[in-house]
Amino acid sequence: MSEQTAHRKVALVTGANKGIGRGAAEQLAALGMTVLIGARDARRGEEAAVAVRAAGGDAIAVTLDVTDPAVVREAARQIEERFSHLDVLINNAGITGSGPVAPQDAHDQVPSSVDLDMVRAVFETNVLGVIAVTNAMLPLLRRSPAPRIVNVSSHGASLTMTSGGPDSPFAALLPSAAYLPSKTAVTALTVQYAKELHKDGILVNAAAPGFVDTDSNDHTGVLTVAQGAAVLVRLATLGADGPTGGFFDEQGSVPW
Ligand code: NAP
Repeated sequence: MSEQTAHRKVALVTGANKGIGRGAAEQLAALGMTVLIGARDARRGEEAAVAVRAAGGDAIAVTLDVTDPAVVREAARQIEERFSHLDVLINNAGITGSGPVAPQDAHDQVPSSVDLDMVRAVFETNVLGVIAVTNAMLPLLRRSPAPRIVNVSSHGASLTMTSGGPDSPFAALLPSAAYLPSKTAVTALTVQYAKELHKDGILVNAAAPGFVDTDSNDHTGVLTVAQGAAVLVRLATLGADGPTGGFFDEQGSVPW
């Protein structure tokens, strides 16, 4: 390992070729970290890595489809070979299941008529993908002096916020049996991982980026990717006294 890599933090962001993940990768690179751009499509990952490097950051594309165990294992092997450790993991890759429709407008997710194959696909990526990648990367994270895991959830994952009455800010959200429950599972997993990994000094938190202008909602979101990514970066760079097992947005704690 070169002297430079020995002193530089290494961060892996899944689904970092575009959207909020790309925004987080850019911000972590600007902070001086080596950023591994996880992307299921090698070409899209390389394009993003080239752009981050062109802006002065240190970025490398890593092929990573979070639903493919062999690909996840190979990504961990490559990171081990090149860096021997990992400081930050941001589990950002996600799908809505409804294509480019904001989850609140997704009629095909209504529980009584949802397609089970769609639910399976959403949970495979958004939930099982988080477990698969986290477990593959844990041996590398354990070698970091200050490991941080950030799971990207959503305000729509909050049972408190979504179960409110007609006056609640989420009253207009269409009921969903796919995307929103998958994100609730992500916050639940965050609590369980935090509980297990606290003794090892690994801080694990869930982030709600807000309603961000990306392909996933056909660019109806109101925040920029940089604004949405800010909470991911804050949780990825927590000090030793930082929280673990929490759920946060840019304003503070999000109710469960
Ligand atoms: P996006 O622009 O559609 O980006 C999603 C990223 O995930 C893309 O890089 C995509 O890769 C990747 N991805 C999808 N399936 C994957 C797989 N199986 N393996 C690896 N990568 C995969 O969406 P976004 O809005 O930035 O969303 C990022 C995260 O924020 C998601 O977890 C989403 O649920 C969450 N979120 C978004 C909002 C919002 O308002 N946008 C709000 C709350 C939470 P491809 O380019 O190959 O498709």
